[in-house]
Amino acid sequence: MSDTERPPEGGHHGSDTLQLAKALISCRSITPADDGALELVAARLSAAGFRCERLDRGSVGNLWARYGTSAPLVCLAGHVDVVPPGPIEEWSSDPFTPREHGGVLYGRGASDMKGPLAAMISAAERMARTDVVSGSGRTTMRGSIAILLTSDEEGDAVDGTAAVVSILRERGEAIEACIVGEPTSTTRFGDTIKNGRRGSLNGRLRVRGQQCHIAYPERGRNPIHDAAPALSALVAAVWDRGNEYFQPTSFQISNVHAGTGASNVIPGTLDVWFNFRFSPESTARTLQTRVREILDQHRLQCELEWTLIGEPFLTRRGPLVDALTASIESIAGVRPELSTSGGTSDGRFLATLAGEVVEFGPLNDSIHKIDEHVRIADLEPLSAIYEQTIRTYWNRA
Ligand SMILES: [Zn+2]
Repeated sequence: MSDTERPPEGGHHGSDTLQLAKALISCRSITPADDGALELVAARLSAAGFRCERLDRGSVGNLWARYGTSAPLVCLAGHVDVVPPGPIEEWSSDPFTPREHGGVLYGRGASDMKGPLAAMISAAERMARTDVVSGSGRTTMRGSIAILLTSDEEGDAVDGTAAVVSILRERGEAIEACIVGEPTSTTRFGDTIKNGRRGSLNGRLRVRGQQCHIAYPERGRNPIHDAAPALSALVAAVWDRGNEYFQPTSFQISNVHAGTGASNVIPGTLDVWFNFRFSPESTARTLQTRVREILDQHRLQCELEWTLIGEPFLTRRGPLVDALTASIESIAGVRPELSTSGGTSDGRFLATLAGEVVEFGPLNDSIHKIDEHVRIADLEPLSAIYEQTIRTYWNRA
């Protein structure tokens, strides 16, 4: 993006959030690139009085910005990176040239999550700019604000939020509450808050048999036949019953492969890939132990490899959920529901440091799609919701 396309700094009027959203969409920040988006945000936050720090790691850009020193610290978190646009010719207009049409702003990242990011930044700027009573130099804030941004949320997420969180932990930085600006609304702006996410655990099972001619099965051992009853037991198992906030843990097989391609050969191995989406009623360890028990009961000769994608997290009803719910109700006129559905998010890293973590943002019906968009009329209310939530939280905490 060229400098001339950037909005003038310090221009604060009704469409400030929209202007910033457009400037961010103009950055071709496909993971892990940020294409100037982090500098754009840092320049604006610095001008508003934030202390900005780049905590880049490898090719990933990270920004930590803080205003105020007193507790409680509320962190607004998000990502500047976007998923690739896919076939450009299928878009109605260029995905990195923001376009307003019919009350909607189009562009890759409009809803996931440059629109909500702009709403966060404008809220933070407003709060910092109106903080100090002119002439007195006295702060009126009852807590502090931080902004945590990364350019690696949509990728493998190793050098992004997780890395920043570990740096903050080493420094002894305490975050009381964190709002992640992911698009969580499903049918109407304001209808859903995510107050947790399920964990995700991948397993790869290789069952060993012995290859032989199918006409002489007694000369080998068929790993497909060996595995079938064990797989059926895994599919039938009840892992937990979930809880008030979570659906029960789900076990799903994603890939099965065995066979040489010939119809007269019993194969020597069978590979099965599976995934758990798990509630906090289970842990990666309890699931691994039970899978092992079921395989042992069936006397399978096998190897098992695990990859823990993310631990679950949960923020129960309390000061943060209450403050956000009340703000959404008063500004958007909708009573939000709490949900823990969907894939993993950076909330799982933030929850290891912050006392309470929630996610809230605009409609998510177009995310990662062709012609991604956000409703322009939702941007300023979203910014107001972030601000009011922080203020309410400070007063209650
Ligand atoms: Zn996102």
